[in-house]
Amino acid sequence: SAFVSGQINTAIANSSWIRRMFEEGVTLREKLGAENVFDLSIGNPVLEPPQKFRDNLKKLAANPPPGIHRYMSNAGFPDAREEVAGYISGSHGIKVAADDVVLTCGAAGASNIFMRTVLEPGDEVIVLPPYFVEYGAYVSQHGGRIVPVPTDDKFMPDLDAIRAAITAKTRAIILNSPNNPTGVIYPKDIYAKLGNILRDASEKQGRPVFMISDEPYRRLAFDDVEIGSVLTSYENAIVMSSFSKDLGLAGERIGFVTPTPLMSKEARQTLVNGLIMTNRTLGYLNAPAIIQKAIIGATGQTVDMDWYRERRDMLYSGLVDCGLDVVRPQGAFFAFPKTPAGVDDMEFTAKLKEEGVLVVPGRGFGRANHVRLSYVAEKKTLEKALNKIQGVIRGLKK
Ligand code: PLP
Repeated sequence: SAFVSGQINTAIANSSWIRRMFEEGVTLREKLGAENVFDLSIGNPVLEPPQKFRDNLKKLAANPPPGIHRYMSNAGFPDAREEVAGYISGSHGIKVAADDVVLTCGAAGASNIFMRTVLEPGDEVIVLPPYFVEYGAYVSQHGGRIVPVPTDDKFMPDLDAIRAAITAKTRAIILNSPNNPTGVIYPKDIYAKLGNILRDASEKQGRPVFMISDEPYRRLAFDDVEIGSVLTSYENAIVMSSFSKDLGLAGERIGFVTPTPLMSKEARQTLVNGLIMTNRTLGYLNAPAIIQKAIIGATGQTVDMDWYRERRDMLYSGLVDCGLDVVRPQGAFFAFPKTPAGVDDMEFTAKLKEEGVLVVPGRGFGRANHVRLSYVAEKKTLEKALNKIQGVIRGLKK
């Protein structure tokens, strides 16, 4: 259509599988009845935010601080930046200054302002399939291009392949651990190892090659796995994240981006100035005012992890019982099994859909012959979905 740009025409045509499944879910519910549809396609955190957040909101509504609804500094309120700096310092084990934190409209807003700030036309950003599909848009919207570098059979980064994929145009790599869609957590030492590779690349290019940790699931981890830190591992590291998942605030759009304190003060200031500028010019201006205030004292809390763990265990053991080859997820709220032998992800997804089970084909994340299942669902739904999956797999063997 001539009514939208060529780039957006293409983007719409290739539009996200997740959205497509969402729409198919609506159709399927009409056809089969809602009680016969088992939707494991969406990762919408259903748990309610912590009490402290609700108490704050109540107080803010009863007694709004003067000026709270006005324009503000584009980086956010000083006390909210202080809160988030404290939270990051605690979870990364390195002191981050409030001045280095820019509050954003979610991790998605953080990605967009960061890419807008650092990319030159034609720059490359390495992503590791299977990856969160919106990365493609966050990068191409700002003149860059993603370069997918496959992970190994346990979905771990392949450092040699990454080294080989680096060119004079490589500007950044995006890491996402705990990972959407696989639920895997990267080993702690990967950041320093990758840092060595990126340091060489930065020297060759004469400009920083950034290591970005997109980590909205950081606090959604099980089994006491220790999650490493980009901030302590490499001097051109960036954290972008949000409270969408751990505080259950996805619709409120509250997140942040910060460079590592290992970066020189001058470089940090320039970068943060750029981020503040693009937060404004991309039209976000700032993270939502009331919500900035409402998270004060609530960061670092986590929604009920037992709720997630029980469902992780159910889904994982259920998939293993079905005979599927699946890496045990240790974080986030997804599993990413291989499809049964001889059936690709499109066929498997279609067969499951006939039984009312909605999943997302792996090719939507850049890795075919897998499907993503979310376990943000009622236990009954998971149970019934697993029964249906087992039935479909039995049918395939006949
Ligand atoms: N990054 C990953 C890996 C995600 O899964 C998501 C949301 O699902 C985001 C970023 C965006 O999160 P936010 O809602 O904070 O913008």
